[in-house]
Formats: sequence, structure tokens, C-alpha cells
Amino acid sequence: MNTGMNTGAEMHALVERLYPLCRSITGDGVRRTLEIVGEYLPLRLYEVPTGTQVFDWTVPKEWNISDAWIADSEGKRVVDFAESSLHVVSYSVPVSATMSLAELREHLHTLPDQPSLVPYRTSYYSPDWGFCLSQNALDALPDGDYEVRIDSTLEDGHLTYAEHVVPGEVTDEVIVSCHVCHPSLANDNLAGIAVATFLARELAQREPYYTYRFLFVPGTIGSITWLARNAERIGKVKHGLVLACAGDPGSLTYKKSRRGDAEIDRVVQHVLAEREHTVVDFSPYGYDERQFCSPGFNLGVGSLTRTPYAGYPEYHTSADNPDFVTAQAMADTLAACRDAFSVLDRNRRYVNLSPYGEPQLGKRGLYGSLGGRSDAKQAQLAMLWVLNLSDGDHTLLDIAQRSGIAFDAVAAAADALYAAGLLAPAPPARE
Ligand code: ZN
Repeated sequence: MNTGMNTGAEMHALVERLYPLCRSITGDGVRRTLEIVGEYLPLRLYEVPTGTQVFDWTVPKEWNISDAWIADSEGKRVVDFAESSLHVVSYSVPVSATMSLAELREHLHTLPDQPSLVPYRTSYYSPDWGFCLSQNALDALPDGDYEVRIDSTLEDGHLTYAEHVVPGEVTDEVIVSCHVCHPSLANDNLAGIAVATFLARELAQREPYYTYRFLFVPGTIGSITWLARNAERIGKVKHGLVLACAGDPGSLTYKKSRRGDAEIDRVVQHVLAEREHTVVDFSPYGYDERQFCSPGFNLGVGSLTRTPYAGYPEYHTSADNPDFVTAQAMADTLAACRDAFSVLDRNRRYVNLSPYGEPQLGKRGLYGSLGGRSDAKQAQLAMLWVLNLSDGDHTLLDIAQRSGIAFDAVAAAADALYAAGLLAPAPPARE
């Protein structure tokens, strides 16, 4: 077993551990989730009070639930929240009533086309209640009276989110965001949480160039809250990635930022080129890239998934369980992120300080400095390309793509030329 698979198994174990918790956009399910993630990664928790205005939104009342069930006339529970957090519509108001099956039906949600599966439903912003069950289970219910109980609370409280920061050489930031608001669903988005967690741990060991800020936030309201509370930081956010659906067996999909040509877009597409993958253009739907790429921010933030949003039959159903996500797929998503950030961290623009004719590499010990090595010729070629294209406009990634030389070799050539005093960092690009 290689280390990648070990990490994959650890990520899968984290998914299994988080799976039973009843998460929502607020409440103790999110807190407990972040507490468990906090065993892997130190987190800074933020609690934002109900009623806080965040741009056009207001932090809602906090929702918590202890139990919920539907019982038949003999008192037998026919739908039981204790079996799966999906059984209750998220944000259901409390209920204690007895009603006929006909009355109850108006509050029951099924998937007639997938009759064995339980759907995931929410009612965040309008007071309602409901249960989710399989069509098969509903069809098996005889007429009669049912006792319905939802022990939930909707009270003034807080919205909870967390950050983990991996400090870099520079204070310019890369944000990695994942949503933590879905209940018992594995790919959407426990796999994303697991990949983000292990990615943050790896980055800390690598001492990155950029400062990496990991955001564990409830979808939509959480990222909007983070943006509203971090106005002074936004200018520092140079790149970002929203991670979701990171563990299904499908191949990787990269959704470009709204800009479409941001550096993160180029970098991720470059590292995905060697893998089976799909690239899609930005659309204002999906996950929290919608908020980071809203026109007032327009950040260079893309989204990495495997099979994208709503693109698999298990999506938002009880079939999105830990068996649906694999250690191997999560390890592969993690590797793609690792590769992308490795390129992003070393991608620079330089200016050739000896641009009139080629500088004499031999007298600086650069010509044949790798003599005898089979890659010496490529290293020479990489130096010539870097010298030729380092006019302040081309990045090392531009040079790798134009020359067809691997990015690692181009970056190594730039390091050697910089150390020899032949390159200087280019002034910052206009933004
Ligand atoms: Zn979802």
C-alpha cells in the first residue's frame, strides 16, 4: 500500500465518522462536525449571531433537532430520524400531532423514480415541516391515523463556520472552501471536507509560498457571511478553489472561475491535462463559487469536483452514502489539488537581466552543470526557454506550455538562473 492509499483510507474513515451527524446551515450538527475535523486539523471557530445582516441576507435562527418520527396506530415507528438524518426536512419546525395518512402525505417527500431511496430536502427560509422516505416505504403505509413528532428548535442562536490557515512566505492568499451543511450525504460533501482537511495537513508540511486559508462553511449563507466579515481580506485573496463531490468514482471536473482565464483556471487545467477529466465554463449555479465569483468580488476561484453537481443518480439521496465514495477517488482528488497548488506556488514571472544575446551559461557553471544526467539536455533547453521568455509578461507556466517542457523542469531552471543572478522577479501584474 502506498501512502496515497493510506491517506485515502484515512479520508474515508473521516467520511464514515461524520456521516451520521445531522448537519444543517446552523446548529449543533455543524459544531460537532467541526469538532471532529478539529481532531485532524486545528480550527478557528466563528459564531455569528442570528439576525446579523450579511449583504442581502440575514443569519437565520439556529436549528437543532433531537428526535423525530412517524408512528402507526400501534405506536410502531414507520419513519425514524434516528435511522437517518435524511428522514426529516432540514429546518423543520417542531410538530406534535396525530393525523390521517391523507393529511400526512402533504408533508411526505419521496422519489417516485428511485423508489428505494430517501431524498434530501430542506426548508431553510420558509417555516415548514416534513419527512423524507422511500416511495416503497410510503406505498407500504396503510390508511389510518399516524402520530407525528418532530422535536426541533428554531431559536436565536448562531451560524457556525471555521477556518484553518496555513501560513505562507507571502500574505497573498489562496482560499479553499467546502460546504459543511449537508446531513448524511457522503460525496456531497463529506468527501470534500475530508480532502480539504488532508490537503491542509500536507500543505503545512510543505511550507507553501501563498498563505492557504481553508474555509469550512455552510453553503450559500456561510460563504456570504464569510465574505461580509472579511471585506479587508478580499484584496489578499488571489486564487481559490471550491471543493465538493470529491469522492465518487467518476473522473475529475474543473469548473472555471467567472473570469475564465484566471491563473487558477490555467493551473488546474494544466495539471488535469495528464488525467481523464472534464472542464466546464463558469455558471452561476452549483456551490459557493457562486458567491466568490459574484460580480462584486469576481475572485479567481474555480470549483473542483469529480462528477459535478446533480450529475449522478445518487445525488441528494440516501444512496450518497459512504459506500458510494472511495478512498482511491478521494486520494486522486487530493493528488490533483496537491499538484495544482505545487504549480500555483511556483508560478512566477521573471525578467531576464542579460537579455542582449544569450548570457554565457558556461562561465556561470550552468552549462552542463547537470553533466551526465540524462535530463541534462532538457535542463539546458528549459534554461534557454526561461531566459528567452522571461520578459516580465510570461509566467513559468506559459513557458512550460509553449516549450512543451514539464513545469517542474522549467521551475527548476528558473531557480538555477535566479540563483546565478540572471533573473529578477517581474513587477506585479496589473489586476
Ligand atoms: Zn448538495
